[in-house]
Amino acid sequence: MAITIKRAEKYGFCAGVRIADRKVKKYAQEARTGGHILGQVVHNERVVEEMEQLGVHTVHGMGEVSGGTIIFSAHGVPPSFHDQARARGLNVLDTTCPFVYDIHDEAAAALAEGAHLVFVGDPKHREVIGYTNDLDPERYHVLTSIAEAEKVDWTLYPSVKILYQTTLNAAEFEDLARYIESRAQSASRADTICYATKENQDAAKALAADPAIGLILVIGGKKSANTHHLWEICERVKPSKLIQGAADLDAAWFAGLSAIGITAGASTPDYVIDEVEARIRELTGASTAAVAAAV
Ligand code: SF4
Repeated sequence: MAITIKRAEKYGFCAGVRIADRKVKKYAQEARTGGHILGQVVHNERVVEEMEQLGVHTVHGMGEVSGGTIIFSAHGVPPSFHDQARARGLNVLDTTCPFVYDIHDEAAAALAEGAHLVFVGDPKHREVIGYTNDLDPERYHVLTSIAEAEKVDWTLYPSVKILYQTTLNAAEFEDLARYIESRAQSASRADTICYATKENQDAAKALAADPAIGLILVIGGKKSANTHHLWEICERVKPSKLIQGAADLDAAWFAGLSAIGITAGASTPDYVIDEVEARIRELTGASTAAVAAAV
């Protein structure tokens, strides 16, 4: 019997990444002079290759760019980077996601009110570096666990503002936020979770709960944090493989299965998902059960 492929109700490119991708391609077509992106435009190696072919090269520091246009990715940059670019005579194409700018704004407003900031997220993630790089280290913490929060003397801060890296699952950090609230004199949370991420995560959960599905393929870049989170969600319920594209597929994975599920991180382009599905069909003679529109 042919295997059935079922895509999650929501998966793949979020609105922020879709817009960033479109802006860069439009720029590359119109400017025809190429340019440089500071860090990957999104965390997906295929998108990076595609940009290289368009003459838009990935760099890891502004010092590598001596002229022309510098592109800031959907993850955003520290505000001072805009000044640095101007000082170096570079044009800026800013593709920062509006949700990321919301967090910059929330953080600036809370700081102006005298609050101590807590960013729940990965301190090495570019989005978090964007929020914290220009701040006085005395004015914020970046935390991911209660163990880290226990090391902080919360009585030092009359008020605390908790902000989440957009791509995190807030429910998983509820205990951490509650701990901070129980220790701080006054603490409040900013609603900074990106719903695109949550929708993809909820759809992945629903897919994993489908009793007919024996394996889930999570498609996304090696460095994509939100893809990895999707994989973690699926892996808790069903055998799940994190793959970058069709080349990673192994026919042996599908032996004995009647249905498999597919989901993809927010930085995975539609064509990569289509390629994976086409390759599964080649390997197994699969049929497609449900194909929902990508986010
Ligand atoms: S995941 Fe959300 S915050 Fe991040 S780029 Fe996409 S829409 Fe913006």
